[in-house]
Amino acid sequence: MNNSTLIDRDLRTIWHPCTQMKDHEFMPLIPIRRAEGVWLEDFEGRRYLDAISSWWVNIFGHCNPRINARIKTQLDTLEHVILAGFSHEPAIELSERLIEITPAGLDRCFFADNGSSAVEVALKMSFHYWRNKGQKNKTRFVNLSNSYHGETLGALAAGDVPLYKETYAPLLMEMITVASPDCYHRRPDESCEEHSRKMFAHMREVLAQRHEEICAVIIEPLVQCAGNMRMYDPIYLKLLREACDEFNVHLIADEIAVGFGRTGSLFACEQADISPDFMCLSKALTGGYLPLSVTLTTDDVYQAFYDNYENLTAFLHSHSFTGNPLGCSAALATLDIFAEDDVIANNKKLAHKMQLATAALTDHPHVAEVRQTGMILAIEMVKNKNTREAYPWQERRGLKVYRHALENEVLLLPLGNVVYFIPPYVITPDEIELMAKVAVEGIEIATGKGRVTSDE
Ligand SMILES: *Cc1c(COP(=O)(O)O)cnc(C)c1O
Repeated sequence: MNNSTLIDRDLRTIWHPCTQMKDHEFMPLIPIRRAEGVWLEDFEGRRYLDAISSWWVNIFGHCNPRINARIKTQLDTLEHVILAGFSHEPAIELSERLIEITPAGLDRCFFADNGSSAVEVALKMSFHYWRNKGQKNKTRFVNLSNSYHGETLGALAAGDVPLYKETYAPLLMEMITVASPDCYHRRPDESCEEHSRKMFAHMREVLAQRHEEICAVIIEPLVQCAGNMRMYDPIYLKLLREACDEFNVHLIADEIAVGFGRTGSLFACEQADISPDFMCLSKALTGGYLPLSVTLTTDDVYQAFYDNYENLTAFLHSHSFTGNPLGCSAALATLDIFAEDDVIANNKKLAHKMQLATAALTDHPHVAEVRQTGMILAIEMVKNKNTREAYPWQERRGLKVYRHALENEVLLLPLGNVVYFIPPYVITPDEIELMAKVAVEGIEIATGKGRVTSDE
C-alpha cells in the first residue's frame, strides 16, 4: 500500500470535512498509516509533527500506552450499551470524577458524543429550565462576536464565525450578539485586562435591558479558538458571572477546546474562579481518542426537571452513542494521567519554551501579534503591521504556511492568516524548536519572499 493508491480510492468515495474538495486537484491528501506520541507517519514513511493535536483533541500523544490499555480492557468487557434505563461503570466513575475536578456546583453529567451536541444540550436545557420554572418569555441566547460553538444548526447559530454561518443564516435561530472582549483590538496603551473590562459594558447593557427574554449567555472561556485564537482576560468571566447572577440568566461555558489543561489551568473558568451553570466538554475529554462529550450542570437545573412523569418536565434528549463505555474508559485513562503526572506544571515549562521559540517573530514586519494562553500560541500575520490591515483572505497566505510545514515534517493548520500551535502535552522542547523553526520559515515565505501578489 502506498500514498497514491489510497489517495485515489479516498477521492473516489470520501467527502472530507471543512474542505473544498477541488483543492485536492493541486494539494495531495495525506493518508496516515500509524502514529505515536506527537508524530504521524504516512504510507511512504514521511513524518509529521502533529502541532495541532489532530484538530485540538489529542493531549497525551497518539497511541498512548496508558490510554490504549484501558480501552483494550474495556473492549473485552462491554463495548456499548443503552444509557437510558441502563448504566455502566465507566460512565458512573467518569461522572463522579468530572464532578470532583470541575468548578464547584457542577454536580450532574449529561453525556452526548460530540462537542456540537454538548452545546445543543446546554442550550435546550437552559431554555427548558426556564420553561419548567414558568418563565416562558425566556427564549433568547446571548453570544459573543467571533465565537464558535460547533456546526450542527443550533450550535452553528450559537456561534458567530461568518465563514461557517452566513450560508445557513435563513435556517438559524437568531442570537443577541455582543462585541467580543478580544484583546487583539485593545488600544496600544491599554492592557488586556483594561480592554476586556471595558468591553464588558456592552454585555452588561444587554443583560440589564433584555434579561427577561434571555435564557443564557454562551461563551468560550479565555480563548476564541476557531475565531482565529483570539484571547481575552479572565476579568471578563468574573464580571459575566456576577452579572448573570444579578440578572437571573444562565452562564454556559463552552470548554470543548480549552478544557483539560489547554489554557494553563485544568479548566479555563478556574482562572476567573467562577462556576458556570453549564459546562460543555469534549475534544480532549477522551485524550482525543474517541467521540464523547458531556454537559455538566447544577443541581438547581437538574431539580427543575425532576417531577412526576405526567407533568412532562423531563429532558427528552438522546443520542445513540450517549456515554459510550469505550469513550468513557479513554476519558478515565486521561484523568488518571492528570492525577498521576504533573501535567499542568510541566505544561507551564512547555508553554514558556513555545514563547521563547517564537519571541523573534514579535518584530517581524508582517506579524501584528504573537499571543499566548498556556498551551495555545498564535501568530497573526498582517499585510501592514502599523495599521494591522489584514491580508485579503483570497490570497490564502495560511495555506502557504501549511504547505511549507508539511514539506518539513510539521502539521500546522493556520486559520486564515493566523498560524498557531496547539500541540499535545507530550511534545519535547526539541520538538517545539522544530515546530517553531518551520513556522517561522513558513511565515517568511507566506509574507514576503514567496510573494503571492505583486501589489505589496
Ligand atoms: C470544536 C468545538 C466545538 C464543536 O465540537 P465538535 O465535536 O466538533 O462538534 C464546540 N465548541 C468549541 C469551542 C469547539 O472548539
